[in-house]
Amino acid sequence: MRVSELPVTHLAGVGPVRQRDLASLEIFTIEDLLLYYPFRYEDRQLAEPALYTDGARITVRGVVNGMPSLRYRGRKATLVVPVLSDQNVSISAVWFNQPYLKEQMAPGRNITITGKYDARRRSVTVAQHDWHKPSDSIHSGRVVPMYRIRGELTQKILRTLISQALKQYTAQLEDILPFSIRKKYQLMERVDAVRSMHFPKDGQELKQAKRRLIFEEFFLFQCQLQAFRYMHRYENKGIAHPCKGDDVRKFLEHLPFSLTSAQERACKEIIYDMRAKEAMTRLLQGDVGSGKTVIAFLAMHLMKCDGYQSALMVPTEILAEQHVQSAKSLFREFDCNIALLTGSMKESERRKVLAGLMAGDIDIVIGTHALLEERVSFARLGLVITDEQHRFGVGQRAIFRQKGHSPDVLFMSATPIPRTMAMTLFGDLDVSVIDQMPAGRVPIRTHWITQEREDDCIRLMRKELAKGRQAYIVCPLIDESTQLEDVESATLVYERMCEELAGFQVGLMHGKLSGQEKEQVMRSYLANQLQVLVSTTVIEVGVNVPNATVMVIYNAERFGLAQLHQLRGRVGRSNLQSYCILLANPQTQTGRERMRAMVETTNGFVLAEKDLQLRGPGEFFGFRQSGLPEFRLGDLVSDIRIMEVAQKEVAALLRDPGFWLHPEYQGLLQFLKQTNVLMAPLQD
Ligand code: ADP
Ligand code: MG
Repeated sequence: MRVSELPVTHLAGVGPVRQRDLASLEIFTIEDLLLYYPFRYEDRQLAEPALYTDGARITVRGVVNGMPSLRYRGRKATLVVPVLSDQNVSISAVWFNQPYLKEQMAPGRNITITGKYDARRRSVTVAQHDWHKPSDSIHSGRVVPMYRIRGELTQKILRTLISQALKQYTAQLEDILPFSIRKKYQLMERVDAVRSMHFPKDGQELKQAKRRLIFEEFFLFQCQLQAFRYMHRYENKGIAHPCKGDDVRKFLEHLPFSLTSAQERACKEIIYDMRAKEAMTRLLQGDVGSGKTVIAFLAMHLMKCDGYQSALMVPTEILAEQHVQSAKSLFREFDCNIALLTGSMKESERRKVLAGLMAGDIDIVIGTHALLEERVSFARLGLVITDEQHRFGVGQRAIFRQKGHSPDVLFMSATPIPRTMAMTLFGDLDVSVIDQMPAGRVPIRTHWITQEREDDCIRLMRKELAKGRQAYIVCPLIDESTQLEDVESATLVYERMCEELAGFQVGLMHGKLSGQEKEQVMRSYLANQLQVLVSTTVIEVGVNVPNATVMVIYNAERFGLAQLHQLRGRVGRSNLQSYCILLANPQTQTGRERMRAMVETTNGFVLAEKDLQLRGPGEFFGFRQSGLPEFRLGDLVSDIRIMEVAQKEVAALLRDPGFWLHPEYQGLLQFLKQTNVLMAPLQD
């Protein structure tokens, strides 16, 4: 069996309990374990005597050279063990409240200890577990990996398991990066890199290992992306749809508004693609509320006019329902059959929809991931649109291609990705940008106030609620946390708001709720049964509650700009004046600049660029949840250069006719097949 299929129970010492604890960290196979990288490292290399300075954390190896003594003060036990270090320095090792260790510290015993050095007493205070046999070379006397752990796992146990797996199974870790590329960029071999990630000799080696693995991540990502695109072109069996000017005009005449010029431009680009013989692959980017949906509907309308079906896939059921509603009202005057398809539909209803799709009676289907299921098949699928496309991997997009005759594909995204980054992330995907808001929108008023002025914010909410409006309150965490005492937790804020906003219904939503519970809360809010919604940042993407006019964000300094902007986009969706209140006491200059940027600009693209400028490397907040693809090690900001190189190399590789044949690339081709990107006719 391959390491990617071997369950962790193949390792000695992994029974049901360990297996469960590992599973809670999403470690199921040996490969998962090998690729479970440390989140930090501790320097426990043996210290030279010159480094024995007061207060320093040092690691000493030596031998117990005297009788340990145990002293009690009240119920507090202090164990002092004399140790002669390898470099002939006498020190004492001190443990508090571990009297039972005395038995183990017999004279002559070799040990390695880590702890804080006290120069006056010439002693090292050792924490409970920070002593080892010198033969335990994975826990001490080196740079030691520290992992995120759960349940009954300890650092020592996990470290031992990983070390064991590295010994037994690394030979099976395949390296699918082409040799020529590895050589060109002097990248370590995969096996060595993985080993070094866990047990690096030194900082330099760790850096090289990381570089290699980040390159690999980005390279494979680019391969998927570009191969997918390449296949589209290669198959080249798209359909040229007429998209008659008359049909366009008729549709636009029925709109209650006229398109902005940015929307018009995007429509032209899309129509141009749909008329072409090749299949369309286009990304439509536009800030929340810029009016992407109507463009999607126009494209679907044109498909219908040509006798083809369209599918619109969205991330949540509520969103799907909302889209069906607005499609139905928009297409009222047209003879157009619109259906909903979600996972929670009754089986009988679903069967009807599936039959309608297969028979070609349904022109437009709007749904969730349920659309990807195998039993969904179409009579004449011509267009696939995904809203918030980043939620769907390349592999899933590939599924759609099988369902139709190389249908046109349109991705819509509200994540304002800066152009430079979009190019590297989407390869040579065509991009249309709506960089203009519909006229007549009342700009959202954004205020930044300190947490102490929360009262002002509550007063504003009361005023708006009294007018019949609704409010969102967003907090960074669910529960009270000891580590982040000053962070408002959603639960606490919820309880407080129930009192402060008495007379109005307050709801609570957080990530620990099940998907169904979340939908339920969202539905109540949508129906105005709840006037206030307190939540962590799980507010459903794209849900439209035009009656909500206040967005309050606690600890706003903890969110990235892109994310703050997304949250702000939940309000200001009608002709009512809306407010965004940032409660924040940022401690850094950058933090203050971010708040100011939010107050000063409402343009998502400007903010995204600003975010990139302000974000130092390693500052993760914000991007995590902003919908960009997630990487195990790579950081889209600090490692963007590596992404650029990977993009270039993959493009060159795909242009090379040898790629599809040369044995050097078999591993890569295999990977692309497994992830559904490559299919017939190139499969064999
Ligand atoms: P997005 O999907 O880009 O976030 P929507 O398509 O949901 O935005 O549009 C938001 C709202 O703006 C909808 O109610 C839509 O009917 C309206 N809208 C779209 N385009 C225009 C326009 N050109 N003029 C006025 N209102 C518009
Ligand atoms: Mg939308």
